[in-house]
Amino acid sequence: MGHQSSDTNAWRIRRSRRARHVRLKVDPVDGLVVVVPTGFDERLLPALIEPQWPWIQKQLRRFGDSLRSPGTVAELPEEITLPAAGQTWRINYATSNASSLRVTTQPDQIVRLRGPVSDRAQVRAALKRWLTRTARSHLVERLDELGTRYGLAWARATIRYQRSRWGSCSSSGTISLNAQLMFLPPELVRCVLLHELCHTRHMNHGPRFWALLDSCEPDHRHLHRELCRSRARIPAWLER
Ligand SMILES: [Zn+2]
Repeated sequence: MGHQSSDTNAWRIRRSRRARHVRLKVDPVDGLVVVVPTGFDERLLPALIEPQWPWIQKQLRRFGDSLRSPGTVAELPEEITLPAAGQTWRINYATSNASSLRVTTQPDQIVRLRGPVSDRAQVRAALKRWLTRTARSHLVERLDELGTRYGLAWARATIRYQRSRWGSCSSSGTISLNAQLMFLPPELVRCVLLHELCHTRHMNHGPRFWALLDSCEPDHRHLHRELCRSRARIPAWLER
């Protein structure tokens, strides 16, 4: 049936009876999709894809990295705005001689970091863990609402950091969502969640998949185009 998500590889394989050659596609939601003819030996893929990396990177960069100036190290944030949830959190840094950082959230949307706060790598890692937790509670709730509303059942949801895609859905019904969705406005998040929920019924991008998505979100074409540009919404401190 294809549309397997393979997390060890940075791409997803889709089998197509009509495909005559291996074809690479970069999709705003799914990231790199490799379309292979049925019966094609998957072990040959890495050697085929490898030479295409410059092109693939360029396509992925089109999803927004273009707005970022290369080589600069971004300041760590004083506040973090999460449009998906309509929240802005203030970040409070407190130095102590503890060897590891402790993160606590306080009322009034304050995130407090206590420990070696001048250790940039530790701060970024701690904020990423906080963001993943925040994303989990918010996105799973949204997924629940949308699944119930449109009668689309999903088995499990995982939230993780993904560089090249916003979401994926496995054939067992596990929906995997990018924690960085929290930086997108609610209508784009909704579109990604609906896209993955529709994959629980149709594990491909065939006409029936688009018809189903159409019935849940008539504006999805416009929103998908918007998603192509939205990597620029991810704050620079997360990336370097
Ligand atoms: Zn898809």
